Amino acid sequence: MTVLVFLDPEFPEGRLAEADVPQLRATDLGATRGDGIFESMLAVDGAARKMEAHLDRMESSAQALDLIAPERETWERAVATALRELTVREGNGEAVVKLLLTRGAEGADSPTAWVAASPVPAGSRERTADGLAVLLLDRGYDSTLADRAPWLLLGAKTLSYAVNMAALRYAKANGADDVIFTSSDGKVLEGPTSSVILAVEEDGQKTLLTPELESGILPGTTQRALFDAAEAAGWARGYGPLEPAHLMEADAVWLVSSIRLLAPVTSIDGTPISSSPALTEELTALLRGAL
Ligand code: PLP
Repeated sequence: MTVLVFLDPEFPEGRLAEADVPQLRATDLGATRGDGIFESMLAVDGAARKMEAHLDRMESSAQALDLIAPERETWERAVATALRELTVREGNGEAVVKLLLTRGAEGADSPTAWVAASPVPAGSRERTADGLAVLLLDRGYDSTLADRAPWLLLGAKTLSYAVNMAALRYAKANGADDVIFTSSDGKVLEGPTSSVILAVEEDGQKTLLTPELESGILPGTTQRALFDAAEAAGWARGYGPLEPAHLMEADAVWLVSSIRLLAPVTSIDGTPISSSPALTEELTALLRGAL
């Protein structure tokens, strides 16, 4: 079940709406062109996690698309309304909270904005706990393009996820579970719905590495929270450029995101890679403590 709350100037706390009847105009540019942005965050027992980081990223995505973003407090009130209602209907537990903002209906000059909250699907995290078989797929552009081509909106969380979903379907059709995109100049980028993190342990020093943000990837809020928590616990941190060989040689590789948290990668293009249940457990505990 999903709780919907529209941002509406006439309803300061947000306007509750039925999720199973039509709510959007058929001409909404979010629907007809994917012209909009979104965030997905985790809520636990009625409290959204890393809300500041998600609202920060929502603002920078809005800026990239020249969208007028609602005030942060307006989002916060709508999220609170949605989570209150979800708790009434479903009780406590973990929820996915999406914030969505589109350019609005064609011809209208106001954006459409709403919050959708629903329980985290049962078993979704457990399904990935045993490890993911991942394919490296070419994203087709080089790792220096983001700066030169701002119109590509690399690094913004836009609603245009059809390519990301197609990459996941391609992986599944080819016997894999997930994807790590690479650039045309051979650098590791990100998953279709996740950031890539790897761990190396050398002379007793544990280090977390992730591709550099300038390579046109989405700045992951989970990666950032995990890096901060790990650094406070004595880990070193570093940023790319990373190449597939770094993944093959790492002590462990994970795909990380707000809902799934850390999902260990156990093979890449059919070749088993090293993984570490102990490191997964340590980092998951650090991450949960930081959320
Ligand atoms: N990269 C992409 C392309 C994503 O879609 C996501 C999340 O959906 C992430 C990275 C991870 O972001 P976060 O940790 O903020 O959920």
